[in-house]
Amino acid sequence: YSKLMGKNRITLFSDDILYKKARTLELNQLLRESIDRGFIGFSVHYQPQIDSCTGEVYGAEALARWHCTEYGDVSPVEFIPLLEQNGLIVQLGKWVFEQAAHQCKKWSRVKDDFHMSVNLSYRQLLDGTILDFMQATLHEINLDPSKITMELTETYLIEENSTLRKIVDGMQDLGIQIAMDDFGKGYSSLFSLKTLPVDIVKIDRGFVKNINTDLFNATFVRTITELCHDVGKKVCLEGVETEIEYNAIKDKGIELIQGFFFGRPVPADVFESLFFQD
Ligand code: C2E
Ligand code: MG
Ligand code: MG
Ligand code: MG
Repeated sequence: YSKLMGKNRITLFSDDILYKKARTLELNQLLRESIDRGFIGFSVHYQPQIDSCTGEVYGAEALARWHCTEYGDVSPVEFIPLLEQNGLIVQLGKWVFEQAAHQCKKWSRVKDDFHMSVNLSYRQLLDGTILDFMQATLHEINLDPSKITMELTETYLIEENSTLRKIVDGMQDLGIQIAMDDFGKGYSSLFSLKTLPVDIVKIDRGFVKNINTDLFNATFVRTITELCHDVGKKVCLEGVETEIEYNAIKDKGIELIQGFFFGRPVPADVFESLFFQD
């Protein structure tokens, strides 16, 4: 009996790996086709970031979406790592940046201090043209660079790589804001808060969960917020899903709040009807 179980398990296990490999191969192919044909199936959704002082919309985070002919909607959690591996993230990242910058320009006509956050992968920093590209794009659109925040994760920000560091410094020199995404998740280090050129620290949503009852989470958020403020950084709290969570953090001096409680990522026209309706 136990032998049979073992055998079954091995079979299940290898089927699973095979399935994953096949899917990855196929997704890679489909991603390449979509991008080559002019980003067919790709779109950008926008999730509000709320200014906790005023309760109003501070801006939005641009999030890539992909609808593929074969598999339907594929999560960025799955397709972004594939693009990072095959290098196509450089092209997609530029496309998302352009979409987001145009949208920011458009929305800044309705709300003149509207801000836009865009995610940036490590792999994009290795592309030597990223700084020139950003500068040229913002110049062409005539968008104030301080309206743009690039979100990077500390895992690679932390690297003692002076070339990459110079590019991030260059973005800041242009006036672009830098945010450290998903702080506290993965290989976090408090040292990175000291050394990295970061304007905004986004605390990972794992620390918001049950913040009204979870002593560790409440203490973590309070302490990191105080530390950030003492060294001149703003804080954004990600993943606020309920009114209970919002009530637990709303008067804690955290500048920005993002989460399903205020709005999910939605297409631009939906965002407009939700947040720019007079
Ligand atoms: P991220 O940059 O940390 O983005 C926030 C993610 O958390 C989004 O997932 C968003 O939908 C989700 N989220 C926001 N509020 C809540 C909440 O209250 N509860 C829960 N459960 N989730 C919430 P999404 O859109 O699936 O994106 C996942 C990740 O994919 C992003 O995490 C980012 O790392 C990456 N990504 C997405 N678009 C891009 C892109 O254009 N470029 C790059 N390089 N990465 C991207
Ligand atoms: Mg982000
Ligand atoms: Mg992230
Ligand atoms: Mg995040």
